[in-house]
Amino acid sequence: MRCAIVHYHELALKGRNRDFFEQRLVRNLRLALKDLKIRRIESLQGRIRVTIPDEIASDLVIERLRRTCGVSNFLLTESVPLDLTAPDLTTIKQVAERQLSEQTFNSFRVTAKRADKRLPLTSMDVEREVGGYLHEVTGKAVKLKQPDLTLHIELLTKEAHIAARKIPGPGGMPVGTSGKVACLISGGIDSPVAAYRMMKRGCKAVFVHFSGRPLVSRDSEEKVQELVQLLTAYQYHSQLYIVPFGEIQREIVANAPAAFRVVLYRRIMVRIAEELARRHGCWALVTGDSLGQVASQTPENLSVVEAAAELPLLRPLIGMDKIEITEQAQQIGSFTTSIEPDQDCCKLFVPLHPSTRTKPDDILRIERGLEISTFVKQGVEKAELSTFTFPS
Ligand code: ATP
Ligand code: MG
Repeated sequence: MRCAIVHYHELALKGRNRDFFEQRLVRNLRLALKDLKIRRIESLQGRIRVTIPDEIASDLVIERLRRTCGVSNFLLTESVPLDLTAPDLTTIKQVAERQLSEQTFNSFRVTAKRADKRLPLTSMDVEREVGGYLHEVTGKAVKLKQPDLTLHIELLTKEAHIAARKIPGPGGMPVGTSGKVACLISGGIDSPVAAYRMMKRGCKAVFVHFSGRPLVSRDSEEKVQELVQLLTAYQYHSQLYIVPFGEIQREIVANAPAAFRVVLYRRIMVRIAEELARRHGCWALVTGDSLGQVASQTPENLSVVEAAAELPLLRPLIGMDKIEITEQAQQIGSFTTSIEPDQDCCKLFVPLHPSTRTKPDDILRIERGLEISTFVKQGVEKAELSTFTFPS
């Protein structure tokens, strides 16, 4: 029987919450593997066992498990029955020998783990005996430190799992274990990465995008839809609000000093997003700001924007630079979509000299001359909701 044995570590540390985390991970794995007709996913003695049907290629399973948040690593195993009271290592040796014959390596070691302490053999006994056998039949050197290949054996109560490959997962926590957050997504490189970072910490993301419509085409909206579909591979079900923002921007341009436009846009975005966030029970807002990257991301401007929200405003990329963010965007698969040209609403009417040190008092005075609450109400009312599922 072919299986994937999934390991998680952060979860294990969570004490009383452990069951909750584990069940969530099982549920997420079901969603991640649903279309592959993989149904048998069970938590078993501190790991999760995924039974892979014969007709499903391992590569497909690997691709899915590699991006399931909360998976620290997994083994692709062959399992054999084990009699706890009278363990017989013969079949384990045969399977191990066959697995090694498919690999190229010069040195190896065997690493065994015993999940049930009633087993009369210790992990070390198993390592020594199977390792000795494999050395004899393959002629390859046993090397305990930095071998070319590690053969893993996991001894559970009724079965043993043997694997020549251990594959890293993304780590983090299962999506859904840290509540919901509302992610402001722009179509640029940063905000999809910011959303991903929060998902990886267990948050379910609800997306909010502000479009320059009716002043610009729907191009940016299509791009954002594509990005949300991509990110849905990490959380299986997503909701996206698209808020037409062009009219509001026109009002700001007509009634406020040019230098403050971007900060004013942002403060209204944050308020609209907050209203939408509350509908979904989100506990925070998330943006892709990184300190000092552009004029709206100076310490003063970041503070003034944040002050418009009552919910916490999280900025997971604040201390990252563009190269680090770009690498992460490539890794999660959003980069090529993000760099497609679009008409972002923030680029509408951008002044030549934006204020980089906006003072709270100045912005409050300017806002008194604007119909802020009407803008917010309008934005919320006109927001269009769409849903996404994985696989699409
Ligand atoms: P990004 O690459 O995410 O666009 P950026 O470096 O271009 O970020 P800004 O354009 O100043 O920086 O945007 C900062 C953050 O504000 C974005 O990461 C996003 O969270 C939010 N934001 C900006 N524009 C929009 C928009 N049109 N819709 C939703 N959120 C937006
Ligand atoms: Mg941008």
